[in-house]
Amino acid sequence: MRNRVVALNEIENNSFDLCVIGGGATGAGCAVDAQLRGLRTVLVEAGDFACATSSSSTKLIHGGVRYLEQAISERDLGQYHVVRRALRERKIMLDNAPFLAKPLELMVPCFSWREIYYFRIGMKLYDWISGHSLLFPSHHLSKEESLRRMPMLKLDRLVGTIAYADGQFDDARYNLALLQTFTKSGGEALNHARVTGFRKNSTGQLMQARVQDDLSGRYLDVRARAFINAAGPFADSVRDLAKPGIRRRLRPSKGSHILLPVDAIASNDALLVPKTDDGRVIFAIPWSGRLLVGTTDEDTTLQDEMVVREEEAEYLLKHLNRYLVRPLSKNQIVSGFAGMRPLVASGSRRSKDLIREHEIEIEPSSGLISVLGGKWTTYRAMAEDAIDTVMQFLAMPAAPCITSSHRLSGSEEWSPNFWTALVRDYGISKETAQHLSCKFGTAAKEVLNLTKENPGLKEPIVAGSPSLLAEISYGLQEEMAISIEDILARRTGLQLFSWEQARAAAPMVGAIMAQDLGWSPSQQKAAVEEYVNKIGRLMQLMGLRPREKMLVDA
Ligand SMILES: Cc1cc2nc3c(=O)[nH]c(=O)nc-3n(C[C@H](O)[C@H](O)[C@H](O)COP(=O)(O)OP(=O)(O)OC[C@H]3O[C@@H](n4cnc5c(N)ncnc54)[C@H](O)[C@@H]3O)c2cc1C
Repeated sequence: MRNRVVALNEIENNSFDLCVIGGGATGAGCAVDAQLRGLRTVLVEAGDFACATSSSSTKLIHGGVRYLEQAISERDLGQYHVVRRALRERKIMLDNAPFLAKPLELMVPCFSWREIYYFRIGMKLYDWISGHSLLFPSHHLSKEESLRRMPMLKLDRLVGTIAYADGQFDDARYNLALLQTFTKSGGEALNHARVTGFRKNSTGQLMQARVQDDLSGRYLDVRARAFINAAGPFADSVRDLAKPGIRRRLRPSKGSHILLPVDAIASNDALLVPKTDDGRVIFAIPWSGRLLVGTTDEDTTLQDEMVVREEEAEYLLKHLNRYLVRPLSKNQIVSGFAGMRPLVASGSRRSKDLIREHEIEIEPSSGLISVLGGKWTTYRAMAEDAIDTVMQFLAMPAAPCITSSHRLSGSEEWSPNFWTALVRDYGISKETAQHLSCKFGTAAKEVLNLTKENPGLKEPIVAGSPSLLAEISYGLQEEMAISIEDILARRTGLQLFSWEQARAAAPMVGAIMAQDLGWSPSQQKAAVEEYVNKIGRLMQLMGLRPREKMLVDA
């Protein structure tokens, strides 16, 4: 990605075919598709790339077995189509960035033969709908085999499990890989740049977006022939900027997750809790060295803070513990996160029952094209529909969409053994090489090349972590990170691995940022303090006590 100042100048001094508002999965997907079809495209994001819903997902690439169940029990053709489309997209997502996404086996514990038959038939249907995109067929595991695969499963009442396949991925880094792909194809992207209004031509059509640069406070006008609103759960606010007073379409719902030590279920497979007291499902998934447990589903408002509260953590633990021989306690939680689903409202349906289908809306008086709803798994299909609409809107000859077979940046010549070349060429440990290969793909070499000029960057960010200091410099130079949270939450993922480790890493991240971005000592101290206090507050809200008060030395 370009340096932020250069990108800002380019954006200010050029006109574009398309301006995409929002740098989550939907916006990044639209930007890649548009640029690859030859539209000169710019993307602006109010916060950091992927800072909202797109880094707060359960990190599953899936059709959704619960949605299939709803499709059948409620004879809902809409739900069925969402599942079918998502299952096709699942394979494409896995193929296009294999370093960031992989198949996962999920186990559904059954306590009676009736349940075994029920889930066996359901999962066979799920396989059948997958068609050519099937990852591997679902199957029944006996009680003994289930325990061998997942030794922490509670024995009493267990009759067996049904195992089925879906995909899992690193959502924040997938989002960054999309943006790298976009900018490498010639697109312009800018984070921490919020659209605050529009300028219209004499017929009322949008022609400029007023954008505020968060760093300088300065405003710039972004000129384009078409505008896509990909603001996820905030899409109604952008619609309102284009047409004040417009009827709201979204009904956001909050989902929380907690992370625990991975040995809590001692398995490479994931556990699906098939029914909670309020009729939901909960996943417990081995992810990046941790056990990721989620999610809740509650109606929320845009004003609500996306933090995990103590009662939400307890709800998740309560339901998971029903299946575990050794119950987990709140004190074992290492981190957590919450996000807002951008669901399209539909009558009085509860949020857990709303369809994850997307909609493309053209607001006729202004020409704003909004992409509403959807899910991570279908981001590419949503983008394809949106860019087809843009081309029609611009009366351009339809150019074919190529994203279904376009591999993302970092995937070029990547193979699962790529990490061995990193060990050989850069003399790093197997653990670090595997970590870098899975986060950056072949771009891991660019990260490691930074250590040639500055060997100190080969040190871990915190003792014992496979993350290197070089990742901080790479995030600043190549991925437009500008805050400690940009680095620890989305570039390296250390904030998810452990809140304690992230707090401990903050002073070192601050020091490298001060050096690379030219911060003054007081700026550095303030940034570190702000981050450490933020994490401390997240811990307190979840009822956890930070191990020790940190002394912040800039
Ligand atoms: C708890 C939870 C679990 C989920 N799990 C899964 C899962 O396992 N698999 C799956 O497929 N899907 C999952 N989803 C759904 C998926 O995460 C979302 O559908 C997807 O991330 C939405 O992406 P988006 O780009 O539309 O929204 P966002 O990621 O929220 O991006 C919108 C962006 O627009 C920016 N923005 C807002 N206003 C402006 C403005 N005025 N100017 C500029 N930028 C602006 C925001 O800062 C934000 O970054 C889950 C969602 C949640 C909440």
